[in-house]
Amino acid sequence: MNRRQLLCGAGMGLVSGVVARAGEKASPTNDDQSKPERLSLLDYQPTSMLHVRETRVERALYPVIDIHTHITGSSKSINGVALAAERHFYAIPDNLIPVMDRKNIRSMVNLTGGFGSGLTETIQKYDKSYRERFYTFSEPCYSRFLEPDYPRIQAETIEQAHRDGARGLKILKTLGLYLRNNITEGKLVKIDDPRFDPMWDACGQLDIPVAIHISDPIAFFTPIDRFNERYEELTNHPDWSFYGRDFPSNAELIEARNRMIARHPNTRFIVLHVGNFAENLDNVSENLDRFPNMNVDIAARISELGRQPRAARAFFEKYQDRILFGTDATPHADKYPQQGFGSELYEIYFRFLETDDEYFDYAPAKVPPQGRWRISGLNLPASILHKVYNGNAARELRLSI
Ligand SMILES: [Zn+2]
Repeated sequence: MNRRQLLCGAGMGLVSGVVARAGEKASPTNDDQSKPERLSLLDYQPTSMLHVRETRVERALYPVIDIHTHITGSSKSINGVALAAERHFYAIPDNLIPVMDRKNIRSMVNLTGGFGSGLTETIQKYDKSYRERFYTFSEPCYSRFLEPDYPRIQAETIEQAHRDGARGLKILKTLGLYLRNNITEGKLVKIDDPRFDPMWDACGQLDIPVAIHISDPIAFFTPIDRFNERYEELTNHPDWSFYGRDFPSNAELIEARNRMIARHPNTRFIVLHVGNFAENLDNVSENLDRFPNMNVDIAARISELGRQPRAARAFFEKYQDRILFGTDATPHADKYPQQGFGSELYEIYFRFLETDDEYFDYAPAKVPPQGRWRISGLNLPASILHKVYNGNAARELRLSI
């Protein structure tokens, strides 16, 4: 074939290709089966063709203290601010303990125990009825925020909660993202607002930890558009977006939190969700280096850690004394499978920490709920697993186990 014939043949091929595509529209041909189906992203559930090892870890290597669960919650919230002492009980102990026993979960720490009568009822039903299986944290009573003596009232409420059996204080992202000057209206109250200083100090004096959640995945602070890596998650939960309006940036939230932690060196903080910046382990490391009174948990962030397994493994090695096992487990969390309490959830966490399996789902769900990627395991040595599963939490909760 000479050069002219070659060019001509290529041209023919091109033309016939065009004709074939044009013809498909008018009359289907037997080429139709190879035509890609137009799919909505919602319907897309690709099946991995990888042949990789699948290790099932039915029980954790050591007894686990899950530092981050939600067994109860406020029965009344307005604009994101919990206002009632009364609790909703998401599950009774009899529904939780069989799973805990099977998975080697020694204790669940219920962070959202509230305050006042709801807190004492929760401690009675769980902590005191099933010793060492449940521990409950207290929360601020924001409903009294406008009382002139609120800083003292709040500090005393923590002291009372401690006398009632609370093992720590939980701060939801209410502070920084929902609580406003008139509680549900007005300007947002900053995390380092001095009105909370006596509360942080009280925790230090009582020697109880503060479990604090102040921000969210960085993608929640960017537009919900085709570039957003959590587009589907934000489409499912548009109220989780903190983009625009009067919301501070993720960086501003972290700076305010750091100013507050710096002012309270005698108070111990467990900064939840990998220090609220699992996408940036350098940032978390910097803050851990800066604040000896800071620890982190891994709840609902194995999705982030497991997609950077080498950096995550180095992070665990370096900060092995300051990382606590947590899941964010919540009974009946059907809309958030990444935190649905149950055997499947715990087995995924154990697989992530204990094996070097590659490319597996980080949540028990058909579509990865926090972004369309999969994770690899860290294969941590037994000495680190022991600290992460229970040693670090036992130290922070002042337990002798
Ligand atoms: Zn949580």
